[in-house]
Order: sequence, then structure tokens, then C-alpha cells
Amino acid sequence: MVSQEYSFPLENYMSREKFERIREFARDKETPCLILDLEVIRRNYENLRTYLPYATVYYAVKANPDDAVISLLRDLGSCFDVASVYELDQLLRLGVTPDRMSYGNTIKKEKDIAYFYEKGIRLFVTDSMQDLDKISRAAPGSKVFFRLLTEGLGADWPLSKKFGSHPDMARQLIKTAVRFGLEPYGISFHPGSQQRDVGQWSSALTQVAQLFNWARNELKVDLRMINMGGGFPANYIEPTESIQQYAEDIKRFLDNSFGQEWPEKIIIEPGRSMAGDAGVIVTEIVNIARKSLHEHKQWVFLDIGRFGGLIETLDEAIKYPIFFEGKGKAEPIILAGPTCDSMDIMYEKTPYFMPSSARIGDRVYILSTGAYTQSYSSVYFNGFPPLRSYILPEG
Ligand SMILES: *Cc1c(COP(=O)(O)O)cnc(C)c1O
Repeated sequence: MVSQEYSFPLENYMSREKFERIREFARDKETPCLILDLEVIRRNYENLRTYLPYATVYYAVKANPDDAVISLLRDLGSCFDVASVYELDQLLRLGVTPDRMSYGNTIKKEKDIAYFYEKGIRLFVTDSMQDLDKISRAAPGSKVFFRLLTEGLGADWPLSKKFGSHPDMARQLIKTAVRFGLEPYGISFHPGSQQRDVGQWSSALTQVAQLFNWARNELKVDLRMINMGGGFPANYIEPTESIQQYAEDIKRFLDNSFGQEWPEKIIIEPGRSMAGDAGVIVTEIVNIARKSLHEHKQWVFLDIGRFGGLIETLDEAIKYPIFFEGKGKAEPIILAGPTCDSMDIMYEKTPYFMPSSARIGDRVYILSTGAYTQSYSSVYFNGFPPLRSYILPEG
């Protein structure tokens, strides 16, 4: 039987029956592998539609670009936040039409903007003058939205600093976009990924509302769209509010900032919250070691590590729920990966435990690993292949 129940119950993450189905399905698969449960993605999409009915979902493809995930979301009616020509080609191959895509990366080559434009995409993000210049040449007349810098405080995986501009720069960009013959369409921000402080949406929305007012009063430009980014949580060890609670709070923030006059289009770009809980990584214990006779904690080496798809354990930022086979006393462990790189250690400080009966060759299940795992796994570092994935057959 699976343990780790002394620290958190399996039922917080999935039903025991579902877990047994995944375990059974994985039995003849070589480890490590990722098992994806599309039912969870369907439910996540439907929950967002239920709780944020006013928002259009642009799924952030990078979280999990599996063809099956994209096809499912395509059929459910989702739009897509696309970051590269490669993602674009994939989506076109899967029959997603260009009116359902935005080019949401602030860092883009002019020839890539031209490629998006040629394929029919007319919605582009920007946060800098030079980028706006490229868009005006390569995608004339398109809609542009302006990304604001956020601090990412409260996020387990912050995106701060790299993306977005200060509002004073945004004002310059909006002005210039008009001059360039582009259509200033709206304002975006990303509060930071796995954002556990819903108040971060509030401060960002206040800034957005100020920019809307400024554009209307100073430029006679009516901005029409808010893109509230991703940041909604997946279910890891550290607790978060429910999506329902996020939605209620965000609705209140929108009311506070916009009163009766909400912008006509509100976009969200969930990645982690859509795919995270849909994945289970099945891995195997390669070795168990004590570094000294007095060492309290044992080292447990799995056949997956930071390079195999668990890069978000950097700084132990994302703490996945991990379940071991076996039973017995809970023994404290350090968890590390199989590669010959000394940074390939997942958890040294965060308390993880294994049952005293755990042995080399036992399987270990890492839950909530559907987002930012396979798409991050390295290509043949130390010869290890990228993380394989399987779709759980419908039950
Ligand atoms: C990665 C990304 C997202 C997804 O964020 P999550 O926190 O995973 O939901 C959304 N928007 C943009 C622009 C992104 O780069």
C-alpha cells in the first residue's frame, strides 16, 4: 500500500480508486513516466468557465503542450497563449484557428512576428519600444496589449522582473502604438505562477484601471481588454484557496476597479492550474544511501530528477506530494535525481519521509506533476531520454 499518509492524505489529491487505476495502468510501463488524466483537465477547464464565466481562457501552451491536451482544450472551446513559432505550428497542425491564439511572449524575433502575422494571428503582447517597432513592421494594424511588470510576491514560482514594463513606459508604448497604426487593445499582467496571495490581482488591477482612465482621458483611446495572466494554483503540498475563492475575490477586485463598466474582454491564461493536477509521475528508487554512520536522514535517489522534468524543485520552490509504496515508520529523507550533476537534488530542506519498508526498485508516485515537467525535461543529459508520457485510458 502507499504511504506518506502520516503527512498528507492521498484523498486531498485524488480518489483512491483513481490512484489505483493509474498505478495499475503504469504497472508495465518503464519508469520514469508521466501519466496524464484528461478528465482532470476537462474538469479544470469547466470549473474556470463556471467560476469566471466572464473570462476567455487562453491556455498557456508551455505548461503542457501534449497533443492530447491541446486537442481536448481545442474541443472544449479554449483559446491559446502561444510563445513561439514551434508552438504555433503545432496548434495549426492540430486545427486550432488563428483567431483563437495570441502571441503572448514579449521576447520575439521580427521574422517570427511576421510568421505569426502570415498565419493569421492578429493579437500580440508587447512591453518595450523596440518590440513594438518590430510588431508595427511585421504585423501592421494588429491588436497589441501592454504587459505590466508585477512583483510576483506571494508566488511560489515568480516571473517578476523579466516581463512587463512600469506604467510610465506602458503609457509611452500606448501612445506610440497609436502613431504606428496599431490597435492598442488592452493591458496584461501575470501575478506570478502558483500565486498563493490573491491580493496580487487586486494591486495589478488597480494599475490597469489607472491606465484605462489615462488612455481615455489623454489619448481618447478606449482600451477594451484585460489579460489577467496565469498564476492560479495547482494542488501541491502548500495549501491554497480554491479556484472558486480566487474567482470570487477577483470579481470583487474588478468591481472595485471598474465599477459597472468592466472592459468588454477579460482574458485569463491558466497553465499550471489547468494541467498540474492532471499528471502523476511514476518513478523508481535507484539507490538508498547513508552518508555517514551518524547521519539521521537517508538519501533516496530516484530515476527522475531536476533534469528529467522536476526543474521546479529549484530552491525547493514547488513541493510536490510524493507517495511511496510500503509501510512502517516514517523515515526522513533527502530526495535526489539520477544524473551526475550535483545540483540534481530535489529536496534537502523540505521534510519528506519514506516508510521504513521502502526498498530499491520500489515505485514512487509524484502527484500534481502535469504542468512544467515534461516540457522542461532535458534531452539526453547523461543519456537519459526526455520524460515519456501516457494518457490514462478513460475509465
Ligand atoms: C507561463 C505563462 C502563463 C501561465 O502561467 P501559470 O502560472 O502556469 O498559469 C500565462 N501567461 C503567460 C504570458 C505566461 O508566460
